[in-house]
Amino acid sequence: MAVLEHDGRVALVTGASRGIGRAIALRLGKSGARVICVSRSEASASQTVGEIVADGGSADPLVVDVGDMDAVKSACADVLSIYGAVDILVNCAGITRDNLLLRMDDSQWNEVLRTDLDSCFSWTRGLCRAMMQKRWGRIITIASVIALIGNAGQANYSAAKAGAIAFTKSVARELATRGITANAIAPGFIETDMTAALKESIREKILGQIPVNYFGTVDDVATAVEFLASDGARYITGVTLRVDGGMAMC
Ligand code: NAP
Repeated sequence: MAVLEHDGRVALVTGASRGIGRAIALRLGKSGARVICVSRSEASASQTVGEIVADGGSADPLVVDVGDMDAVKSACADVLSIYGAVDILVNCAGITRDNLLLRMDDSQWNEVLRTDLDSCFSWTRGLCRAMMQKRWGRIITIASVIALIGNAGQANYSAAKAGAIAFTKSVARELATRGITANAIAPGFIETDMTAALKESIREKILGQIPVNYFGTVDDVATAVEFLASDGARYITGVTLRVDGGMAMC
């Protein structure tokens, strides 16, 4: 039987219940990793776990609000006591709370910052010591092209995602000599629940800004994660890989 790329490795994927995170969890499960699927709901995390197991892989659900630093700290301690270490961390959970700056209230700002940025800090800090001891690790953070080009109505989201990219670069420098890479992925417009809510007129306008002239799929992002998580990507660290059909080309 062929040895899979991630046989024996443990991956933790936040936001694994839906959309991009679910596709990443399924892909890593297929490549042999034991996948810890994080979501706020037991039922939806367990659904992804069930799909991985049905496909011949192994996975476990973990219910945590990623924006709650104390909860993440205690979840990391539990994970390390059960699995020893996490080899592949994918920070994918994220939300939007769009509003124009003048109308944006404190809770819209704070909710997005804590879910999309604080979470990256909490999980990475909580899990990196064990990775350092193993001298192998992959930290992959799902940012957004909006961090690179900005967007009216998304001051909170663009700030959080740009913070996640800057955070990734600092982590990459700190952990580089320990066999750990840290990279960000900046998806463009990917068809998920997050983007399904947009009006048809807005979707048409966005499509006009995408050189390949179609929206991305969750599998386009999962493919990039699979590559950055591989042994072959050991010399790639601190990058932001755009998966955007050319949308944010400079
Ligand atoms: P989605 O379909 O709305 O899924 C969001 C995921 O995040 C769900 O699994 C949700 O789980 C989880 N989540 C949200 N808040 C959480 C919290 N406080 N604690 C734990 N889990 C939480 O979103 P998506 O489109 O797949 O986006 C995934 C990531 O890609 C996000 O970081 C997003 O910013 C980024 N992104 C998406 C696009 C796009 O076009 N879709 C583009 C660029 C970047 P539960 O609700 O089950 O807890």
